[in-house]
Amino acid sequence: LRVAAAKPRWDMKGRLIWDGSLFDITDDKRTQEMKNEFISTVSHELRTPLTSIRGSLGLISGGAAGELPAKASALVKIANSNAERLVRLINDILDIEKIESGHMPFHLKPQALFPLIKQSTDASRDYLPERKVELSLIDDAPDIRANVDADRLHQVLSNLLSNAIKHSPVNGKVSVALSRNGQRARIAVSDQGPGIPKTYRELVFEKFEQVDGSATKSVGGTGLGLSIVKAIVEKLDGEVSFETTVGVGTTFYVDLPEIVDSRTPIAGATETK
Ligand code: ADP
Repeated sequence: LRVAAAKPRWDMKGRLIWDGSLFDITDDKRTQEMKNEFISTVSHELRTPLTSIRGSLGLISGGAAGELPAKASALVKIANSNAERLVRLINDILDIEKIESGHMPFHLKPQALFPLIKQSTDASRDYLPERKVELSLIDDAPDIRANVDADRLHQVLSNLLSNAIKHSPVNGKVSVALSRNGQRARIAVSDQGPGIPKTYRELVFEKFEQVDGSATKSVGGTGLGLSIVKAIVEKLDGEVSFETTVGVGTTFYVDLPEIVDSRTPIAGATETK
């Protein structure tokens, strides 16, 4: 199949060049799909050598190459943390591509939200221990249930919690609250961080957007966390929003349709979405 074998590429303006012809179809769905496929292939290809780099660095810092002089050991540590950062970036890119292309399986199940939220909160307690953040959990709706995929909800909450913790001041408070908001279950993650500047508020859910000089630059982040949160929450028929005051803090809300009557069959409960 000659056309499919030809390698597509894009010029500086994002136009597709394919089989010697130029197609100005930047908004075209197929172009978008091809870009996504390309990104996904490249990310997969990068992951293998990177795994080997991490392995070697791990062996060196574990003493496999003998004891290192202090300077060399410090450099290996830097290389290692950058390799880990790259792995996170590649995993995030692959995740967002999978969600957007519909290839991420969603095993939806009607279930109580509080135990899931508690698990994610507990799992975040080890994150950045030097921040000494006080993490609390408030449950105002103990019986609330929703149709969710537990792993994907965990991905949402761990992204929101790691953001809240990394933007918190030392000894700051982060709270996670489950409540009822009309017909919806509301999960709120609040912090006492710097807040999000006005000019940036419309961009937070965009891919690779990061506030200049924010904690992200020092602590590390890919700028993809909130895009992943939004993509997952929307697949769960929910909505994500936030309230923020500069100098006071930020609260992110995840609103999910509540299951009111457990005897009512839930459409698509076991479907992969
Ligand atoms: P990152 O990997 O950089 O954390 P995200 O997509 O999760 O990427 O977030 C995008 C940007 O939004 C962050 O770089 C940060 O500047 C800002 N942000 C996210 N959460 C918070 C928060 N709780 N408080 C202040 N700023 C935040």
